[in-house]
Amino acid sequence: ERGLMWFRRDLRLEDNATLVQALRECRRLFCVFVFDTDILSTLPADDRRVAFIDDCITELDAELRAAGGGLIVRHEAAHKAIPDLARSLNADAVFAGRDYEPEAKSRDQRVAAALKLEQRHFLQCKDQAIFEMDEILNGQGEPYKVFTAYKNAWLKALRPTHIEPFINQPPSGTLAPPPAQLTQRPSLNDIGFGHPAHPIPVATGSRGAQGLLADFLPRMDLYHERRDFPAVKGPSYLSVHLRFGTISIRALAREAYPAMQAGSVGAATWLSELIWRDFYFMILHHFPHVAGQAFRPEYDSISWECGPEADKLFRAWCDGITGYPIVDAAMRQLNQTGYMHNRLRMVVASFLTKDLGIDWRRGEQYFARQLNDFDLSANNGGWQWAASTGCDAQPYFRIFNPITQSRKFDAQGHVIRRYVPELAALSSKDIHAPWLAQPTALVHAGITLGVSYPMPIVDHGCARKVTLARYGILKD
Ligand code: FAD
Repeated sequence: ERGLMWFRRDLRLEDNATLVQALRECRRLFCVFVFDTDILSTLPADDRRVAFIDDCITELDAELRAAGGGLIVRHEAAHKAIPDLARSLNADAVFAGRDYEPEAKSRDQRVAAALKLEQRHFLQCKDQAIFEMDEILNGQGEPYKVFTAYKNAWLKALRPTHIEPFINQPPSGTLAPPPAQLTQRPSLNDIGFGHPAHPIPVATGSRGAQGLLADFLPRMDLYHERRDFPAVKGPSYLSVHLRFGTISIRALAREAYPAMQAGSVGAATWLSELIWRDFYFMILHHFPHVAGQAFRPEYDSISWECGPEADKLFRAWCDGITGYPIVDAAMRQLNQTGYMHNRLRMVVASFLTKDLGIDWRRGEQYFARQLNDFDLSANNGGWQWAASTGCDAQPYFRIFNPITQSRKFDAQGHVIRRYVPELAALSSKDIHAPWLAQPTALVHAGITLGVSYPMPIVDHGCARKVTLARYGILKD
């Protein structure tokens, strides 16, 4: 009868499966967002994502108000805030979108247990994924470990109903405004954060997401041709919106799927990326050990470089001063904007693990702090893929050559010139590996290697041999 809608990774009213169920089951529905101190306490005060969320919930609150409700905003540990709020509002049930991350699951179990003590329900709905948990299993009833087989089964299982929008039409009076004592909303300052000097360079909220989608759709047919070139406007840039749920995954599939059926290769390729997202949610749900350990346990016996020398190499990687221009450009893009193109994520992850021999978990953690779209499942999946420790990973003996990757995917050096301006005057031939350039070309471009730009911190050819030996132990 009386309910509480807990918004988390679904910061939108439109096509929100959980909200629609909550509205269907309740006659009076309160809405809440919690700035969870358990999560916030681990983040720096200028974290871009907190400011992004703050903007998104401002929009959400305005939309809820326009519909007669409003958003209660708390700054507390969620496992405590939610049961307390349910009690003070006398809610019979709390509704939330299902989360697949181990820490979120244990938080939700705590919330459910606390609610149950007072005969309140905790109801979770599938909203983030199109297929989740056990919905796509192989012939033996087990989860898939190989993407292509999973994708084929996913496509076979898809029916129009799976991607239909959830339409909320609350009878007037169902959405309840926050009670007087809960109208005070903490500001970014109140929760210990500030506006970052360089906010996420993407419009926020559902409106921002819709704008990006509208911009992408005319390009969708060309996605397969453009998506690998970081200097080209190829992908959708929607990941941060998918992360915080300001757009529904079903809305995206409703664009891609019919276009694929009509023969668009670009749409089919893009849909495939959306299916990777479901795949990694499913992997994290079934194999939670991946958060911290290799998917394939034997890979945890690999000995990674450690000690002060490795720490120095790791710092150079983080700061974008490895001497490999494409790696440095990518890492500086990440540090400056919080975004990195998918191709570059693969290049830098391969470089860290296979050129520097550093444990993929260190890279994973660095990405987790920096990426606007950080998502444990996709980030972990991407890192384990690159380190060859994961399900359906690239074989360990296939090692990206950062120079070849640079020549192929940033041929004109646009990305390098933008993020490594000290190399901007080099020709497109020399910019990928300045240490191979003629001394006169360097002088002409005003570059003194080792002074204005570093010498490469490792030799790729040697590093490759060391890596093959490092992984070679797995054959025994
Ligand atoms: P588009 O190309 O437009 O793709 C559309 C959507 O599909 C993306 O927004 C994303 O939600 C999903 N998607 C695309 N590729 C993948 C993929 N490989 N795995 C899962 N979902 C995918 N993606 C994240 O969302 N969060 C992460 O933390 C993350 N970490 C990564 C780490 C590494 C090492 C690698 C190699 C990849 C990682 N990815 C991650 C996947 C991918 O790089 C990003 O999703 C993509 O670059 C986001 O840009 P976009 O929205 O323009 O993507």
